[in-house]
Amino acid sequence: AERVLSGVQPTGSLHLGNYLGAIRQWVDFQNNEQKDDEGNVIPVEKFFCVVDLHAITMPHDPKELRESTLSSAALYIAAGIDPAKSNIFVQSHVPAHSELTWLLNCITPLNWLERMIQFKEKSKKQGESVGVGLLTYPCLMAADIILYQATKVPVGEDQRQHLEITRDIVRRFNDMFCKGNPYKKRCKEAGIPSRPVFIEPDAIIMKEGARVMSLTDGTKKMSKSDANDASRINVLDPPQTIRDKIKRCKTDSLEGIEWDNPERPEATNLLNIYLAVQPGRTKEDILEEVSEMSWGQFKPLLAEAVVNHLQPIQERYYEVRNDEEKLNRILKDGADAANAVAQQTLFASKIAMGFVTPT
Ligand code: ATP
Ligand code: MG
Repeated sequence: AERVLSGVQPTGSLHLGNYLGAIRQWVDFQNNEQKDDEGNVIPVEKFFCVVDLHAITMPHDPKELRESTLSSAALYIAAGIDPAKSNIFVQSHVPAHSELTWLLNCITPLNWLERMIQFKEKSKKQGESVGVGLLTYPCLMAADIILYQATKVPVGEDQRQHLEITRDIVRRFNDMFCKGNPYKKRCKEAGIPSRPVFIEPDAIIMKEGARVMSLTDGTKKMSKSDANDASRINVLDPPQTIRDKIKRCKTDSLEGIEWDNPERPEATNLLNIYLAVQPGRTKEDILEEVSEMSWGQFKPLLAEAVVNHLQPIQERYYEVRNDEEKLNRILKDGADAANAVAQQTLFASKIAMGFVTPT
């Protein structure tokens, strides 16, 4: 079977960017059968994980980590991830993630990591006290993907570079350890097939709304870690908060509303959001509706479209979050399924590297 894997960090409340750029794509993926060229259904196992180990790469508050972890999992379910079809789990419940990360840390060149845009941006904020974990974040992300031999990884545009480094790490590992007769001999002794241990994943990046930008700066992506809450729409924001944030969000003083004018990043972003929360509508039909409008006319329409889209998700969220016993059971089942797969890959990678495994 093919496998798909993705995750969101429990670093705060999930926002529209996480939802449109990631979680909604997972739901589509989950609900649409994948077919090969001859039209045969390809079975795909799905793993959606709350990546709490990633969340501690920036300074964090233990109390908030706990709540964010549970609320993120509940939101996955509320947004349409179905535990009967997909495995939902918490990253730290599967120790193989940490363990494989160490192995990958040791074969990943420092300068590959220093080049990462996310590291440059997030480390700037911390100066000398920046943790080593932030630097090796891509190795942890590579481990997440590799453990499930995931062929498809749906992520937002901002994670493209991390997907590329994952592919580089996979090639490097296979090149260094997975060929030659001694490797074949080790595999034979361990009773596993001798082939490249890891496979290269492909990113699935949604085009429309792939990158939702900040409400206060149309050139910066919407982020949980932005100190200003007014810069984002959280999936769980009450309707009035959403209306207020949109009312106050940054626009420009030009007449009419245009898409894709590089001078008007805020206009493009707000139109992208308007389109994304109204599945079924097209760019053309939206332009026809709004291009002559003033911001004062457009903003309330946008606010209502966002509120209406999020309302059923919010309702389901509170149902799921309030039944913690059931939520924990779902996460336990997800972790069991994840552990079974992850242990196999970890074992194969240890054999490839020459570790003695306990008998
Ligand atoms: P943080 O600021 O803590 O890094 P984040 O908002 O960037 O939080 P992540 O947990 O890093 O969220 O990312 C989870 C998923 O959401 C990834 O697939 C990422 O590509 C996607 N994502 C994050 N921000 C956006 C955005 N503004 N637009 C589209 N997708 C996004
Ligand atoms: Mg991020």
